[in-house]
Amino acid sequence: MSQVRQTLKPEAGSETLPGYVAGRPRVALAGNPNCGKTTAFNAWTGARQHVGNYPGVTVERKEGVAHTHGQPVQLVDLPGTYSLTAYSMEEVVARRELTENPPLAVIDMADASALERNLYLTVQLLEMGQPLVLALNMMDEARKAGYQIDTARLSRALSSPVVETVARSGEGLDKALAAALEVGRSESARKGLHISYGSDIDPVLSVMEQRISEAGIWKGAAPIRWFAIKLIEGDSEAWKHLHAADSRLESSLRAAYDALAAHIRSTTGTSPEAVISDYRYGFIRGMLKDGVVTHVGNHDRLALSDKLDKILVNPLLGPIIMIAVLYLVFQVTFVIGAYPQGWVENFFGWLGDVCSALLPEGLLHSLIVDGVIAGLGGILSFVPLVLILFAFVAFLEDTGYMARMAYMVDRIFRAFGLHGNSMMAYITAGGIAGGCAIPGAMATRTLRSPREKLATLLTLPYMACGAKLPVFLLLAGVFFPGSEATVMMGLLLAGWACALIIARLLRSTIIRGESTPFVMELPPYRLPTLRAIGIHCWERAWMYIKKAGTVLLAASILIWAAMTFPRLDEQTAAPYEAAISAAEAHLEALPLNVTEEERSAAESALDQARQAMAEAELQNTIGGRLGKALEPLTAPAGFNWRTNVGLVSGIAAKEALVSTLGTAYSLGEVDPEDAGSLAETLASQPDWSRANALSLMLFVLLYSPCFVALVVIKNEAGGWRWLVFSLVFNTLLAYGVAVVAYNVGLSVWG
Ligand code: GDP
Ligand code: MG
Repeated sequence: MSQVRQTLKPEAGSETLPGYVAGRPRVALAGNPNCGKTTAFNAWTGARQHVGNYPGVTVERKEGVAHTHGQPVQLVDLPGTYSLTAYSMEEVVARRELTENPPLAVIDMADASALERNLYLTVQLLEMGQPLVLALNMMDEARKAGYQIDTARLSRALSSPVVETVARSGEGLDKALAAALEVGRSESARKGLHISYGSDIDPVLSVMEQRISEAGIWKGAAPIRWFAIKLIEGDSEAWKHLHAADSRLESSLRAAYDALAAHIRSTTGTSPEAVISDYRYGFIRGMLKDGVVTHVGNHDRLALSDKLDKILVNPLLGPIIMIAVLYLVFQVTFVIGAYPQGWVENFFGWLGDVCSALLPEGLLHSLIVDGVIAGLGGILSFVPLVLILFAFVAFLEDTGYMARMAYMVDRIFRAFGLHGNSMMAYITAGGIAGGCAIPGAMATRTLRSPREKLATLLTLPYMACGAKLPVFLLLAGVFFPGSEATVMMGLLLAGWACALIIARLLRSTIIRGESTPFVMELPPYRLPTLRAIGIHCWERAWMYIKKAGTVLLAASILIWAAMTFPRLDEQTAAPYEAAISAAEAHLEALPLNVTEEERSAAESALDQARQAMAEAELQNTIGGRLGKALEPLTAPAGFNWRTNVGLVSGIAAKEALVSTLGTAYSLGEVDPEDAGSLAETLASQPDWSRANALSLMLFVLLYSPCFVALVVIKNEAGGWRWLVFSLVFNTLLAYGVAVVAYNVGLSVWG
């Protein structure tokens, strides 16, 4: 309860009246996703907004100050929801805000050309006893489409003011705000709307209402009837609340509920929740039929949408167009994004050089150049890609095409316990090769069911993200020359197969539970504004920079330390140093007229001496020792200690894998883009074969997500245990697959 309140900045002299903050009336903005809430919010508050997250969940929370007739009003932008059940994080959060920190009034924004669906939320808000103004937004489009809405009649039916608005131009916004203050101050608005739920439910409802009232356990701002309705809807939050307040009452009401549910199932074959939903829609339809909406003309935006959908979701053409669109998105992102990515990398390379020149050789030099600058450069070089990708995602979302893509794959995904919306998350994470689990994990926010979101989150790291590609390219090139493309394709498919199979497994074990009764919506197509896309895309990218930047910096310092400490003691180092000095002396002492061959032999002897020292140093570090210690464990999968060091550093950041492998093979710095020398070395190693390569590629595909991805998964899934799960389960799975692949490989290729 206090959680939500804490997020409000306490201000001096803040008034304690409900519905006020710091003496300002508080008005909440509710509505379906995409109805224009954010546009209206921005128009009302301008730059005076405060963006943050609700505590503990990744739902965005926006507050700002609006003015009407010179009076300041505190506006809260609630998450966009279709309903107020407890199925998605957004719904839970919106509900908590309304029940636990009730605003003076709610402005309920509705897309005027999809009134029936939008009023479903309105009815629920009214049942909660929220004083409410209905803002019929997008009236410009509704008028163009030939809709006429009798606002006076609608207002009477809802006993609430109704205002026509156009958030884009600001029309009606001031009127809506003024009406909200007025309705908030009227007592009668809080009584709540009464809908009849039929002869089965109504009696149980009133019994429950009475029992709860007698027990005196409902302290919320909403009417008791609303709480009872939630119980009959089988709402988990409501039952939890009841259990905590009075467990005896809970079991008695549970019995009544079970009897009702059994009766409804036997007579109608559905659940009480479905019946409630039917009655609500019935109420809405009745209201709308009663002359509220008239439709004139036929040059309809919806008709145009229908026509487009005939092609875009056509069973045959639809998937082809979808694949083409996705292919284009990725091509553009990674081809165009490579330029700014290169600039960022070059900048950090330059910065490294400058610092190299300025700082004396030694630990500090190594820490700053190899640890901090290399690490920061690695993460920030992804920002351009993330920005471009998010701009596309925002565009696909805002136009309504994303919903179509999800719709097309929904059937298949549901068979695996997922949802159509899981697809975008998978693809962003690397489903068509190249991508990143971090924005992928953020893309799971479009999933409304926590179970489906969790299953998607835990399985999207199996996709072939951009950082895994260098490893695949390297090994495929060395050990499968001529069939690189087949190997890459095979790995991609293996990633998808694993994701779907594991998702199915999770959904029938630890994340078991019905899929949410969520009908896929096909909102009308709409051309989004550049500004809207810009804002959406920047908000997400900034979150990525903030979260990933801090965590990855720490991680890269950690890898650096693990590959540096402890240092060789003088005694152990002495013979290596002596060998290096001898080789140096020999090279210097060479007479000028020596042959080219002799000179290069002396040079390579010096290189070897240096490499021997580097290897001894590495073996002595924590990383090296860890690699050694893991060797017996990883031998069945065909990994030696050097591979192990690489894999461990790959948990910190997959990008680090190839370069660590390079260091482990004493090649000094290996540029992942140009791993030619490492490839030669690997090819000539006696303990490396096709079987090792196959096993390592599969292991890299499946094992623990990198550190930053783990943290983002933890944040999105809401708990450390999911971080641990991803780390441990994925690594074990990868290990199992790798051992099998290694042994199969050995028996096939010898
Ligand atoms: P939200 O999801 O409810 O926050 O919706 P947004 O504010 O992001 O708006 C979704 C899209 O609808 C954006 O492309 C807006 O520019 C557009 N939009 C918002 N209000 C109106 C309006 O009144 N008329 C028209 N034609 N478009 C609008
Ligand atoms: Mg919005």
